[in-house]
Amino acid sequence: MSTPTSYKDRLSQVCDELNWVKEQFGEVAYAVVSALACQRLLLMAAGKWQEPMAGDWDAELSRVAQTFGEGGEAANLADFEKRWFGAEAALALVSADTDKVKSYVYESAKIPEVRGASGLLQDLNEKETAEELHKRLGMPPEWIIYAGGGSFLIVTPTELADQIAAEIARLYPAKTLTATITAISQPVSLSDLHSALGEQVRELGFLLKVAKLQRKVMPYFDTLPHGEFCAVCNIRPARERYGDTPDLLCASCTQKRKHSDKRRMLNKFIEFLNGEPQLREKYFRGASPEAASWAETLADIGQLGDGYVGAILADGDDIGQFVHSLETLQEYHRFAHGLEKAIEEAVFHSLATHLHCHPLSSPRGRWTHFHPFEIIALGGDDLFLIVPASIAFEVGLSIVEEFAQAKSCVLPSDLQDHHWGMSAGFLICPDHFPIYFMRAITDELLARAKQETRRKLYTQQRVPSEQAREPESYIDFLILKGAATPRRHVEELLSVLYEPGERGDVRLTERPYPLSRFRELLDLAGQLKGAGLSRTQVQAMAQALYRGREQATLEILYRLSRLPEQPRRVLDDLIQQSLRAENALFPWTEHPGARPPYRTTFLDLLELYEFVQPLQGEGGDDDAS
Ligand SMILES: [Zn+2]
Repeated sequence: MSTPTSYKDRLSQVCDELNWVKEQFGEVAYAVVSALACQRLLLMAAGKWQEPMAGDWDAELSRVAQTFGEGGEAANLADFEKRWFGAEAALALVSADTDKVKSYVYESAKIPEVRGASGLLQDLNEKETAEELHKRLGMPPEWIIYAGGGSFLIVTPTELADQIAAEIARLYPAKTLTATITAISQPVSLSDLHSALGEQVRELGFLLKVAKLQRKVMPYFDTLPHGEFCAVCNIRPARERYGDTPDLLCASCTQKRKHSDKRRMLNKFIEFLNGEPQLREKYFRGASPEAASWAETLADIGQLGDGYVGAILADGDDIGQFVHSLETLQEYHRFAHGLEKAIEEAVFHSLATHLHCHPLSSPRGRWTHFHPFEIIALGGDDLFLIVPASIAFEVGLSIVEEFAQAKSCVLPSDLQDHHWGMSAGFLICPDHFPIYFMRAITDELLARAKQETRRKLYTQQRVPSEQAREPESYIDFLILKGAATPRRHVEELLSVLYEPGERGDVRLTERPYPLSRFRELLDLAGQLKGAGLSRTQVQAMAQALYRGREQATLEILYRLSRLPEQPRRVLDDLIQQSLRAENALFPWTEHPGARPPYRTTFLDLLELYEFVQPLQGEGGDDDAS
């Protein structure tokens, strides 16, 4: 059915009359009862409403509100729904998810378009869609139970569900020209909404996947046979110039570039800092927040790390599992928002702690300073950042550590004994690396880390002797020094880089690492640097490891014995540890049955050395220079 303007106004009016519910029972309760009231209105308008013989609508509706509010009494929802709405469900859930986000965001190799594309999607996700739905259909924003990470969950009157889904699907290509979103709707009973939401969300997720597979219509652009192609994407016909560059851009790339000037994510960061005055002062070092801009290119960021940048990709472990075990709409709402806040705070806190605002070598207009990081994605449970290589491991690791500590704030009490954490992939590479490859490689690193996290969780649940240990998230990393763009997969690269010799008996890495072990290694690397171990000594030991197992062992032990006392003392702990461990003879650990069987963490430690700040004994200064 269509909704003439007069109905739109009446919907708004009905919702306004229920504003008291918001104050008394919260947004979720308000969303449910205002959607019920609208459904009733729409059924009346369509001549499909049948008033029951007995019952007081207002009184019963406020009992429903209580039920969906925090700790309210439980109304008989099934009875209410049946008497007032008959056999048909009164409400529906609309679920939507952005299509092919990566190809839209990483289509360009240049940072302004990537940032702009990411920002456009985020604005649509977090703000504009709600505004448009309100403007066009009179939908109150509270019906959106969750919007983040490119997806939506919306509770709606059944009569409006298809229209809302269609409007969202129309909006994305209309606003972005090239990005699309898949939206579906499914009726849901009030009782399921109240006590079996996880199950519903799981089903919607499945339907959404099917709908995505069936999608055919993609935005299409006519290309003239002799037309010029866009200088940025080289895919679509060029249309216009933007700013002071001579390049001809297509409409979509122009729009992305325009959007990159917006400061939405930076404003969030600064807002966070305003709540942390000490951190704010430390971060800005006297510079004015209004005079600080994004880095123009990744080279600005790379220049702080000798031409190298670090890409950090992380996301929450088994978030889907948690969502599916949530029962009520209220729990879902709280979990989704808590999760987002935990990630945002971990990211902002870590960036502000380990980095600081830098002066531009030549001021650009009103900008005298720049922020030495790039937030490409931060939403839902997903984050992708780029920072100077010299501090990347510390920034990434402290995000993951801080997120792990947010467990008690985010998880409902009955889920507290589940594993909670974030797996991550860190890549160090030259700053001119195409951003698309950074993302592709960190995707693989993250997948390897996640696989290990899951494998350990699985074993822990089944092997009694392992159950006492707290499960941990894993971290994988890769340091690429070559200038060439790698075409290989990570797994292949690791065997090329770390399995030297014909015998195939050694692998010079133990990645991926559990969180606590990676912290130990990183701190150890920092202490070695602080104790004055020189780069030459590091390189000599690293090279020795490539000379075959026996030769390497002898040479490493010889070199260790000749080290100055301070760095040797730092390494002594590591060696003692290795001597006590089973199947270990420094620097090797034997993994019976694995191929290759002899592995070492020593080269990983030596490689980390270059990308850590020196630590003096315990603690010390870990700020980027
Ligand atoms: Zn283009």
